Formats: sequence, C-alpha cells, structure tokens
Amino acid sequence: VFSHLVQAPEDPILGVTVAYNKDPSPVKLNLGVGAYRTEEGKPLVLNVVRKAEQQLINDRTRIKEYLPIVGLVEFNKLSAKLILGADSPAIRENRITTVECLSGTGSLRVGGEFLAKHYHQKTIYITQPTWGNHPKIFTLAGLTVKTYRYYDPATRGLNFQGLLEDLGAAAPGSIVLLHACAHNPTGVDPTIQQWEQIRKLMRSKGLMPFFDSAYQGFASGSLDTDAKPIRMFVADGGECLVAQSYAKNMGLYGERVGALSIVCKSADVAGRVESQLKLVIRPMYSSPPIHGASIVAVILRDKNLFNEWTLELKAMADRIISMRKQLFEALRTRGTPGDWSHIIKQIGMFTFTGLNPAQVSFMTKEYHIYMTSDGRISMAGLSSKTVPHLADAIHAVVTK
Ligand code: PMP
Repeated sequence: VFSHLVQAPEDPILGVTVAYNKDPSPVKLNLGVGAYRTEEGKPLVLNVVRKAEQQLINDRTRIKEYLPIVGLVEFNKLSAKLILGADSPAIRENRITTVECLSGTGSLRVGGEFLAKHYHQKTIYITQPTWGNHPKIFTLAGLTVKTYRYYDPATRGLNFQGLLEDLGAAAPGSIVLLHACAHNPTGVDPTIQQWEQIRKLMRSKGLMPFFDSAYQGFASGSLDTDAKPIRMFVADGGECLVAQSYAKNMGLYGERVGALSIVCKSADVAGRVESQLKLVIRPMYSSPPIHGASIVAVILRDKNLFNEWTLELKAMADRIISMRKQLFEALRTRGTPGDWSHIIKQIGMFTFTGLNPAQVSFMTKEYHIYMTSDGRISMAGLSSKTVPHLADAIHAVVTK
C-alpha cells in the first residue's frame, strides 16, 4: 500500500550532516548544523550538566513515574523566571502559564496549535528569511504563514524600514514571530531602540508577539541581556508567547527540553489558558520527558551551579566571537575581495556569509566544506585549526 510513495528529500539543514558523514575526505568540515563544538571539533557536555546528572543518579528517591501533562512544575517556574527575570510583573501577578515542551520546536508547535484553536487571528508573520523549520511548524499547526522583511542583502544588516512597513500593513491582531536574540540564519538583531519601536508599533496594532528564544545567553554571553527584548514586551502589561529551548545554552540538544510560556492579562485567564494547553498536549504526546527538565531544574535552583553554568555559557559565546575575529582576519590577510565586516558584526551562532548556492556547492565539492545552501555557516563548528581552510575556500570561490 505504500509502493506509490516517492522518496522524500532530506531536511535542508539536517541533510547537510547526512552528506558530510558520507564524505571520506580528511579535511571535511561540517558548518551546517547549529550545534556547539569545542576547539577540538568535539561536541561538548557542560561540566555543570554532568554534576546535575550525578546528583540525579545519587538520589535514590527519584522515580520514573509520568510527569503531569504540563511537565515538571519546578522546571516550568524556573524557566519563566530565567526568561522573564525574577522581578517580572507577570510572574509576581501570577498571570503567566508555562508548560514544559519538547525543546524549542515542540514549544513552537504547541504554541502554534493553541493559537490556531483559540486565537481570533490565524495569520503568523515570520521573518524573511528565517529558520527553515518555522514555516512548516506553523503551517502544520493550522496557521497561515506570511513573511515580513527583515534582512537586507545589500547591507547584510537589518531592513528596519521594510520590517516596520510590513508589520504596519499586517491585519490587526496578526501573530508575529520574533527571534528573541541571535537571529537564525542571519545573525542580525535589532538594537534595543529598534526593539522599542517594534514594540510600540505592534502594541498599537494589537499584533500578538510570539518570541522564539533558542539562544538565550549565546548572543551576548549574558542571559539577562539576551532576554531584554522579551522583558520589554512583558513590562508593558500586554500578552505574548515565548518558546524557550535549552538545546544550545545548556547543550541539552538530544534531551529535547524546552518551555512554552503564555503571558496573559490576569491570573484567572492564565489558569484557563493552561487548562486548554493541556488539551493540546495530551493527544499529541501525553506528557513530556523527565530527565532533561530535571537537569535544568537542578542547575537553575542551585546558586552555585547556576553561576557555574553562566561561566560555561559565556566561554562558549566567547569562543564563537573569537572564531568570528579569526575568520575575518584570515580573509583580510588573504586580501579576499569584498567587505567581510558582517562576520564580526553578526550575532550568535551563525554567520550569513552572503555566498550564493552555486558558491556553496563549489566549496562543498572542492573543499569538502558543508553548509546550508543559503550560505549560512555555524561559527560554533569552526576552530583555529579549520579557519584557514574555510578562508582559503571563500577566497577561492569569490576570486574564481
Ligand atoms: N528556533 C530557532 C531559531 C532555532 O535555530 C532552533 C534550533 N536550530 C530552534 C528554534 C529549536 O531547536 P530545538 O527544537 O532543538 O530546541
């Protein structure tokens, strides 16, 4: 009965790794997937995560019962505090509901389905371009996806005018997906002043903010700084949704741990929203996994472990910034034509190089360097040893 099926294409991002794995070249380099690597090119388990896991193993009272539909309640409370700040008015007034979800993707999907079911506007605006999974997540959640201008290829920076025009022209009440920091794939973020203008415009038109926070702490190295745009929207008393992921900032990729928070107008509404979220989650996966959320809770509740985490996080962010500087310098010393200053200006895990699909394909074929066809490279996948190889490849392709 399935013989009519055609072979589906690989995921455009995860497929990069599939191709990389098949390449026997000793110089091959995978800059496709947004996962942190050490200077030795190895995946990293944070020390603080190892400690938390040890604590969990040593605790013989721990059991493996199902979590409630909303997940680990302590984790939910700590996650809300982490993203909104301990002194957040929404937390103080108890008008927020937080549910544990399957990492950032699961949080976006649950939030999308909740909105499709209960929010009066079914259109969500996403940035042009955006993370490749966004349009699929929201379309399958039952929303209509439209885009707003965001990136200006000419300046390799923000098209702020275009952004304001497009959000200004959106139907009142539309949902707007906002990358909280370290925009994927462009690495281009609005300034705080620009965020304030976006906030004013969105509130004046009743647009619903849905923040995707997949990189808290990874952009600036500070958890509070990276959460600032979200906190500005919460401080004005309005509603918003926030999807959090611990994949990158705690290196918990495969544990699939994240949270969806919905900030409401009152505690009463938040309670009813939570009851409806449970109806979305229960038939989808019943309840979330226990291990990852327990690790996060151990770290967030303990002052010493929390401080240790912030140091490890800062070290990851700093290594990425150092890779930006090294790549920029390597191109400069080669005299590679073009302005490459965006490499040091862009923020977070990725650099949107400006290389086109044909150039990417050349670099893969001739230099065994793997990246998504839009020219996005994961700076976290680079090391001092591999920067020269990448710089050689970029130099070759732009002088070809
Ligand atoms: N949003 C953005 C912008 C991302 O880059 C990612 C990870 N690549 C996610 C959400 C979700 O990731 P995860 O489901 O692994 O938390």
